[in-house]
Amino acid sequence: MTTLNLIELTCPVCENVFRSQTVVATNAFGGKRTDFHERAAGMQPLPYFVHLCTHCGYAGIERDFADGVGVPPELRASVLDQLQSALQHELPSGSLKYDHAARVAEWQGSEPRYLADLYLRAAWCCVDEHDTEAERYFRRRAAWRFAEALESFDGVPIEERAVLTYLIGELWRRIGDRRRAREWFDKVPTEITEPAAQAWVMEVAQQQRRSPREWFA
Ligand SMILES: [Zn+2]
Repeated sequence: MTTLNLIELTCPVCENVFRSQTVVATNAFGGKRTDFHERAAGMQPLPYFVHLCTHCGYAGIERDFADGVGVPPELRASVLDQLQSALQHELPSGSLKYDHAARVAEWQGSEPRYLADLYLRAAWCCVDEHDTEAERYFRRRAAWRFAEALESFDGVPIEERAVLTYLIGELWRRIGDRRRAREWFDKVPTEITEPAAQAWVMEVAQQQRRSPREWFA
């Protein structure tokens, strides 16, 4: 069950004061897909970890609305120019909230790993929104940013490289690009640093390469 609470936020771009729902508690997960998408029983909490100002389109997690968050003039201009015009509905979808948060984070020069997580969450929201085209778009963006994080010297802790390499393969598989998926699954063994603890990553990578399944057992 997911429990939400209302919080009051002040938009650092347009100073609009608005209320947004946030996740207080969530439990009784209904399982996990093989791209680590956790399913809650009942209402999905994912859209409520991120907040969006429906006046200008600025979005982010709660700390992006904290007192004293500085918004440089270029960022303000980009939000007003590109995000405000993208608002079409009174109630923004989860994927739109994550999309805007990711674009703000891009303009702020955030780390690829952080951007990848936002895009991945946008893709997961699209699953619930039954928007497969947008889902593939966000999965691609997540895959590119995770790959970029792996390329940078300290973008990913060494013990997490194998699981992220697997995840990139799984993202490409879910996009429908089997060639790229295989390339990434095949790289997993070279990223293993603790064979015993990471045996499950090896296993799931081999399995998704040969006969994929949608859920972890
Ligand atoms: Zn605003």
